[in-house]
Amino acid sequence: MQFLEQLGIQTANKGVSTGTKWIESNGATIDSFSPVDGKKIGSTVAADKAAYEQVINQSLSVAKEWQKWPAPKRGEVVRQVGDALRQYKEPLGKLVSYEMGKSLQEGYGEVQEMIDICDLAVGLSRQLFGQTMHSERPTHRMYEQWHPLGIVSIISAFNFPVAVWSWNAALAWICGNTTIWKPSEKTPLCGIAVQKIVAEVFAKNNVPEGVNCLVQGAREVGEWMSKDTRIPLVSATGSTRMGKELSATVAARLGKSLLELGGNNAIIVSQHADLDMSLIGAVFGAVGTAGQRCTTTRRLIIHESVFDTFTAKLVKAYAQLRIGDPLDTKNHVGPLIDTAAVNMYLSAIEQCKAQGGKFLVEGGVVTGPGYESGCYVKPCIAEVTNDLAIVQHETFAPILYVMKYSTLDEAIAMQNGVPQGLSSAIMTLNLREAEQFLSAQGSDCGIANVNIGTSGAEIGGAFGGEKETGGGRESGSDAWKAYMRRQTNTINWGNSLPLAQGIQFDL
Ligand code: NAD
Repeated sequence: MQFLEQLGIQTANKGVSTGTKWIESNGATIDSFSPVDGKKIGSTVAADKAAYEQVINQSLSVAKEWQKWPAPKRGEVVRQVGDALRQYKEPLGKLVSYEMGKSLQEGYGEVQEMIDICDLAVGLSRQLFGQTMHSERPTHRMYEQWHPLGIVSIISAFNFPVAVWSWNAALAWICGNTTIWKPSEKTPLCGIAVQKIVAEVFAKNNVPEGVNCLVQGAREVGEWMSKDTRIPLVSATGSTRMGKELSATVAARLGKSLLELGGNNAIIVSQHADLDMSLIGAVFGAVGTAGQRCTTTRRLIIHESVFDTFTAKLVKAYAQLRIGDPLDTKNHVGPLIDTAAVNMYLSAIEQCKAQGGKFLVEGGVVTGPGYESGCYVKPCIAEVTNDLAIVQHETFAPILYVMKYSTLDEAIAMQNGVPQGLSSAIMTLNLREAEQFLSAQGSDCGIANVNIGTSGAEIGGAFGGEKETGGGRESGSDAWKAYMRRQTNTINWGNSLPLAQGIQFDL
C-alpha cells in the first residue's frame, strides 16, 4: 500500500525511539491487524526495561537544554511540525483509517486536528502568561510565572491514535517539556509514522535528541511510567478502569496526572427542538467512528410528546446506514477495533435485553464478502430507562439508548445520572431551556452544547470531563497550564524588609 511506503512503515518496525535514533529492544512483538480487512499491516517491538531506561535517560539529559530555548523558538519548530503534517495529511489520514477503522473523512479530520493544535501552540508560545498582582507591602512587586515540568509522558487510546498525542505534545513542547509517548498497543503503526514525521522536522532544527520519544508497549510500559518519579506529569487517555489504576499509582508518588477517560454522553431532545437538525446530530453522534469516540452519543433523552415521532425518524435513518470499508467514502459505519470489542458489544446487547431493554433497531455482526475481519457490527437502538446497569456503563460500540422524559428538570437529572461526565447536549429552540441546561444546576459535564451533538469538539476550547471522565482538560483555552509549574515571585526593591501581615521582627 502506497501510504505505508510514504510514511516509512515496514513489515517489521523498531518501536522505541529518542527522535531520529531507534533503539534495540527485546520486548514483545506487537502485530498490527487492520480491522478493515483483517490483514496484518506490520509489526513493532515493545520496549523492554533497558530500552525504556535509555529513553528516559536521554530525555532527562536534554530537558534542561530544551528549556533554555525561548518559547517562541520552540513554537517555530512546532509550526514546522504542523506544516509537515499538512504534507503528510493524506497518507497519515489513510493509515489512521486503515489501522483504527474510522472513516477516511474522520482519518483526515484527525490529522487536521493535529495541524490545528500546532497552530494554536505556535500562538501560545508567545504568551504563556502569568499574572501580576499588587503587594500589600510598599516597594514590592508580586507576580507569577510558569516554568516547564521536565518530562511529560503521554499514554494514548486506540480510538484517536494520533490527535490526542498531538494535543499533549504540541503544548508540552512549547511549554518547554520533553515528551515520551506510549501509543495504544492496538494502533502502534500510527505512532511510528508520526515519530518519523516529527523526527525529520526536529533534526532540521537541531532540536536535541530526546525531546520527542516513543516507547511502544502494552499496559506494563504505561505502569512503568506511572511509577517513575522522573516523570512529573503522566497524561493518560483511555478507559475509566485504566485512569483509576494509573492515577492511584501516580498520586502515591505525588506526581501529576492528566486524565481523559470514558464518557456516557447524552442529548436531550426537547419538544422545542428542530427535529431534523436533532436527527443529524444524534445519528452522527451515535454511529460516527462506529460508536468508538469518547464523546459518542450513547443516550437520547427525548420529550414524551415527540418520542414516537423522533424515534420513527431515527429508525428510518438507521435503515439507510451503509456499513463497510471505511476507506470507501460511500460508507457511514466502519468496523470496531477488534473481535474482542465485537464480543463486548454482543454482551452489552444481551445484558440490555436481560435488564428489560426493548430494541427498536436490532444489532448483530455483519458477515459476508467484505466483512471477513469479523469486526463489522450493526448500529442498534434500544428503548430503556436510565437506571439500567448497562446504560450506566460505557460500551464502546454503536448502541444507542433512548428514553422518555416529561419535565426538563427530570431530563437534566437523567443526563447527569451516570458516573461519567464528558459531553452533553440539548436540542431546543427555547432560550429558557437552553440557559437552564447550561446553568450551574444544568449539565454536570465538561462539555455542554446547544443544538450541536455531543461529538466533534474544536481545538480552541478546553477538552475534558468531570466525575469518572477524570477531570483533565486538554487542547485549547488555558489547558497549557497543566504542562507547567506555577511559581509566585515577590521582589522587594526598597531598602527595608517589611513582613507580610504587618508582623514585626526587629533585631
Ligand atoms: P484502555 O484504557 O484500554 O487503554 C488506553 C491506554 O492506556 C493504552 O495505551 C493502554 O496500553 C494503557 N493502559 C491500560 N491500562 C493501563 C495501566 N493500568 N497503567 C498504564 N497504562 C495503561 O482504553 P482504549 O480501549 O484504548 O480506549 C477507549 C477508552 O478511551 C474509552 O473509555 C474512551 O472513552 C476513552 N477515551 C477518552 C477520551 C477523552 O478525551 N476523554 C479520548 C479518547 C478515548
